Formats: sequence, C-alpha cells, structure tokens
Amino acid sequence: MAVLGPAWGMFVVAVHLLLYVFVLAPSINGLGHWWGRRNFGNNSATNIRVLAWLTGGESLHNNHHAYPSSPKFSVRRSEFDPSWVVIKVLAAVRLITLVGDKVKLTS
Ligand SMILES: [Zn+2]
Repeated sequence: MAVLGPAWGMFVVAVHLLLYVFVLAPSINGLGHWWGRRNFGNNSATNIRVLAWLTGGESLHNNHHAYPSSPKFSVRRSEFDPSWVVIKVLAAVRLITLVGDKVKLTS
C-alpha cells in the first residue's frame, strides 16, 4: 500500500465533502421525495431500499423524516442501514454513546 501523504489525504477529504454536499445529499433529497415506498404517512419522503446499500442508509428518507433524531434509519427487516452497523460497532467499543429516538413502526 502506498502512502501518498497528508496533501493527498486533505485533497481526497475535500473532494469527498464536496461530493457529499453538492451531489449525494441533493440527489437523495430529490429522489427521496419523488419515488419509493413509505413506512410513515406523516411526511412526504420515501424510502428507496436498494439505494440504502450504496448511500449508507441515507435513502431510507421516509424513516429519517419520521424520526429525525434517530441514528438508525432502517425500520423493517428488509431495509438495511450500513451506517447503523458502523454506529453499533463504535458504540460497542465505547468510542461513541448512542443518543436519539428509537425508530418504531406503528402499523
Ligand atoms: Zn427530505
């Protein structure tokens, strides 16, 4: 493995941040209010389960709008939130403490 140095590392971080802010977040917001399924009827957002694998769970947008302070975006067994796995691991090794609402299906 080659180490490219801190300048390349900062460049990659900057590109990642720019892509997140100007590409991923607007794309998820656009798609997540246009097409997909809803678990909760109290908001206009939708869930696109297959995209959740690629977006770290961000496309479970309906769940996120229903429980905005929850760190877990998945609700059903058929929904996968990869970020929740990372969060659980970080909590298990006590690098973070879980806060926020627990997501529950009401129907
Ligand atoms: Zn939204």
